[in-house]
Order: sequence, then C-alpha cells, then structure tokens
Amino acid sequence: ASADSGAPTIFDKIIAKEIPSSIVYEDEKVLAFRDINPQAPVHVLVIPKARDGLTTLGKAEARHGEVLGQLLYAARIVAEKEGILDGFRVVINNGPGACQSVYHLHLHVLGGRQMKWPPG
Ligand code: 5GP
Repeated sequence: ASADSGAPTIFDKIIAKEIPSSIVYEDEKVLAFRDINPQAPVHVLVIPKARDGLTTLGKAEARHGEVLGQLLYAARIVAEKEGILDGFRVVINNGPGACQSVYHLHLHVLGGRQMKWPPG
C-alpha cells in the first residue's frame, strides 16, 4: 500500500502473530520486531499494538501523547538490547513524500554501522 487508506496492514497480522516476525521487545502497548528488509545490521520496527488512528505520525493528536512517548522509550530499550546505545538512529517515514509503505505508525531503529548524516 502506498496511500493512507485506513485499511488494515500487514502489521495487524504481525501483532496477532498470524504471520511470524522476529520479536525483539514486547509489552502491553508496543511491539518491536526486525525489519524483513534491513537497511543496517540492526533494523527494528517499533509499533503501537493499537493503531488508534495513527496510520501516520501526521495523524497524531494530543490524545496520542502517551503512546508516542511509549514508542520512543521502547526504541531506547531496543537500542540497549541490541547493544547500539552509542550510535543509533530513529526514523519515521511520513506519507508518500517520505516513501512510507505501511500505514501503521512505526519507528525504524537503525544501528550497528556508522550512521551518516544527512541520510539523503
Ligand atoms: P516504511 O517504508 O513504511 O517506513 O517502512 C515499512 C517497513 O516495513 C519496511 O522497512 C519493510 O521492509 C517492513 N516490512 C514490510 N512488510 C514486512 C513484514 O511482513 N515483516 C517485517 N518484519 N517487516 C516488514
């Protein structure tokens, strides 16, 4: 999918464990699993279990503040577990102009190699 249709995504099946994923961290609100097409030695996706309207970060409202904080903190837990606390990047691709391909908010946690800036 390349548009924000609001339709269910593949991540719903990953959350429901109907399709397998390599889970790195999980709690009541958040799931973190390895990206199937890694762009770095460590490439983990951090998602809210309940999408609750967050197809994109651009859809965020004040009421999403708590889960947004939980996602960012989960990214830090993932970085520690993966041993990349001294060099990691968190990315959110928002919308077609940023090549977002799955319309269920997700943070990319990338590391394990030199992360250059700007990324291009
Ligand atoms: P986006 O391009 O929307 O920011 O990122 C979506 C990410 O989801 C991509 O990096 C893609 O490789 C990953 N992805 C898509 N489908 C699956 C899947 O079925 N399993 C896993 N583990 N990752 C997926």
